[in-house]
Amino acid sequence: MTFSALDHLECPRCGATYDATVRQGLCPADGSPLLARYDLARVTTDPRRIAGRAPDLWRYHELLPVSGPEHVVTLGEGMTPLLPAPRLGAELGLPRLLVKDDGLLPTGSFKARGAAVGVSRAKELGATRLAMPTNGNAGAAWSTYAARAGLRATIAMPVDAPSITRAEVAVTGGDLRLVDGLISDAGALIGAAVRASDDDWFEVATLKEPYRIEGKKTMGLEIAEQLGWRMPDAILYPTGGGVGLIGIHKALLEARELGWLEGDLPKLVSVQATGCAPIVTAFEAGDEESVEVEDSATVAFGINVPKALGDFLILRAVRDTAGTAVAVDDADLLADLALTARLEGMFLCPEGAATVTAARRLVESGFLDAGDEVVLLNTGAGVIYPDTVTVDAPTIAKDGVLHL
Ligand SMILES: *Cc1c(COP(=O)(O)O)cnc(C)c1O
Ligand SMILES: [Zn+2]
Repeated sequence: MTFSALDHLECPRCGATYDATVRQGLCPADGSPLLARYDLARVTTDPRRIAGRAPDLWRYHELLPVSGPEHVVTLGEGMTPLLPAPRLGAELGLPRLLVKDDGLLPTGSFKARGAAVGVSRAKELGATRLAMPTNGNAGAAWSTYAARAGLRATIAMPVDAPSITRAEVAVTGGDLRLVDGLISDAGALIGAAVRASDDDWFEVATLKEPYRIEGKKTMGLEIAEQLGWRMPDAILYPTGGGVGLIGIHKALLEARELGWLEGDLPKLVSVQATGCAPIVTAFEAGDEESVEVEDSATVAFGINVPKALGDFLILRAVRDTAGTAVAVDDADLLADLALTARLEGMFLCPEGAATVTAARRLVESGFLDAGDEVVLLNTGAGVIYPDTVTVDAPTIAKDGVLHL
């Protein structure tokens, strides 16, 4: 039996192929991220057999890069619920609305998917020291999984990143560095430090190594499996580096090639905040790459990425699936965060809430209609961003009176 059908790495820009049995970074020819390619003919399992496996993302191990079960580093991540949201759906005019709730993952965000697979594979390929820039959640997840794997991690994040993510790095023994700047500044500092060090550091920034995306692609496989190996009409994804969106596209293509799925892929919708919307701007201009946004700002920290390394892959995935790209205001996404919590009991992260506002806009524009089955991706737990909610509650003296 094949545990992993990983075959080689491929550059999606120039088509060059690379050995997947050693650690690789970007394509040496053109600086593009590399993608894992599988020998799908070696995959002999099928959805019926997968159904009997443990409820975590490793149930898709043939389509993951880790070569054997002994190399899997896990905290039980994956198979998060795909929940109907009928009251919110009625409000938006989308009666078949679903929310994929990745807020339930270890570390409180879907970065756990990429970290579980990325750390497992890095360790398998002999890495002992990991270094990365982050807006917070990825650093929290990689530090956590590095601890689980017994590896060292140095994590650089903006000083104003959500404080819970600092705590997650600190408590799991990561070497935390706070940068007075943006994630791009943190990335430049980490890159320079890795080049300057004599030690064997592995730089695991977004898309700089090829396996984080393999973890994130499992969202697409889970959505299809949870719908009975069927695809929805649209998936709305809050886009920063775009790893999840590129990953979902990749996973659905692989599953379709295996015959696990058939028909059209869902329309993939890239959702950004108006304060940082390089993909939306490029999509609307018909461009193949984005232009770096200056002074980007949004309360949805995970999608504050001024220029994504994989921008051309995000735009390809959106266009290949007849999808679109939408930017929403912070004030609107915060209002929709509160509305979703009241109507459904779902405390979304601000990035997830951005997809609610985007769905509303896309119904107004006619891109989505009432017959569509639409999946919103909630990429993190609302509870890790307590500052998005203002609490206005009276305090009563203990010998006072509580009126109902
Ligand atoms: C990182 C992050 C995103 C964006 O994910 P990408 O794959 O980088 O586009 C969205 N939401 C949350 C909560 C995140 O942490
Ligand atoms: Zn290349």
